[in-house]
Amino acid sequence: MKIMKFGGGCLRTPKNLTDIASIVRKEMPNPIVIVVSAFNGVTNDLEAAAQTALESEDRIPEVVKELRIFHQEFVESIIDDQGLLLRTLNQVESKFQKLERLLFGVAYTGEISDAVRILIMSQGERLSSIILEAVLINQGIQAKAFESEALGIQTDSVCDNATANLRATKQNLTDQLTPFLQKGIIPVITGFFGCTTEGKTSSFGRNGSDYSAAVVAYALNAESVHIWKDVDGFMSADPRIVQDSVRIDTLSYVEAAELSYFGAKILHPRTVEPLAGTGVKIFIHNIHAPENSVTVIQPEGHEKSDVIKSVTANDDIAVLKIHGAGVGHKPGIIGEIGRTLSGADVNIFSVLTSQTSISLILDSVDSGRGVDALRHLVGGVIERIELKKNVSLIAVVGEGLLTTEGLAARVFTAVAEHGINVEMFAAGASEVAYYFIVEQSEMKTAIQAVHEKFFGAGSIARLSRYS
Ligand code: ASP
Ligand code: MG
Repeated sequence: MKIMKFGGGCLRTPKNLTDIASIVRKEMPNPIVIVVSAFNGVTNDLEAAAQTALESEDRIPEVVKELRIFHQEFVESIIDDQGLLLRTLNQVESKFQKLERLLFGVAYTGEISDAVRILIMSQGERLSSIILEAVLINQGIQAKAFESEALGIQTDSVCDNATANLRATKQNLTDQLTPFLQKGIIPVITGFFGCTTEGKTSSFGRNGSDYSAAVVAYALNAESVHIWKDVDGFMSADPRIVQDSVRIDTLSYVEAAELSYFGAKILHPRTVEPLAGTGVKIFIHNIHAPENSVTVIQPEGHEKSDVIKSVTANDDIAVLKIHGAGVGHKPGIIGEIGRTLSGADVNIFSVLTSQTSISLILDSVDSGRGVDALRHLVGGVIERIELKKNVSLIAVVGEGLLTTEGLAARVFTAVAEHGINVEMFAAGASEVAYYFIVEQSEMKTAIQAVHEKFFGAGSIARLSRYS
């Protein structure tokens, strides 16, 4: 069985949906399960709608109307069977009535819980799954839309970063979907969210439908996951920064996870998690070039001849430096800092320590909260806290990087040759990645320099330093 996931970028136009129907038809009669995300941009609109409702009820009808018309027109332009059209429009309308009630609820109470916000944001997938089901049926393909809660995609209750309960989900999906699969009906499942044991809608975070697809693959013992996007798969560098970047044919699970966690927006960073130990391969396809080769992500690694496969960057980080002459000797200090930050809901990406300071890499949106939370510790062993923003974390990724002589020297020579100062550097923690921090204004040049070193000349010459 194959799991096919279609992301928002492949759900922009009616033509995209007929292309999806053709892709699905090619796979038939082999069993397929589809996971969808919302139509392009709809989750953003829903998030904004929730915010609008919080401010006042005035604009709710207008905001809902826009989304309603967008979805209705989509359906009308693509479904020609009149009975099916009417049924689909009714189903779509019932989602909009619910959305409207939810938004007015927010406006009247003047508050919004995480559960309600997630419920509002999840309406996009509920709509796209209904519409894709109808498009497939309209093309003579048997399909049925399923919402994650009804199917039993069970999760914990961590807000916007839920983890699926794989065992319970496996049982539920097997029980629920087997009768349909046996009849050759293709399930179209809502990505992005699941359901807590208390029955509340939970979310896997933005772009979480990749993770959903992996959970479904695990649950149904699928042989592969096919993630359809509107761009080529993983690249050796962001093509906006390095013009002659190349597509990567194969990556290991860990390489893909490191690249997605620290920059590449192509895959949800947790996608490989449910698949650990399964051997399931993930294929990333471009809907605009379905016949082209793809990036394959597989459990085992392979070493490329010049080791480095990709260089990527994350600008959304900050470095929090905690100074104190004795921090290296004080037992429990890292534990205390970690507890304090986790109490303030601040996630630590990475920690580097020395005898006199501890450096933490945080998400920049959390960094101010991090400083506030730690302030009460200043005065004891901790003498001073310093926050550095406007920095970029560069990740250089490749299987075999720790065991290849002279590799770090080449990476840093490349950067030094362009006069870029490396402010922090971490190697060894990951088997497949080096990380270093530079001023944000030097990020592009640093990426171009490393890329040029490992993939050949061209990238720097063609781009101005500040492009
Ligand atoms: N629709 C959700 C989002 O935009 C989930 C996804 O696209 O994977 O974040
Ligand atoms: Mg999306």
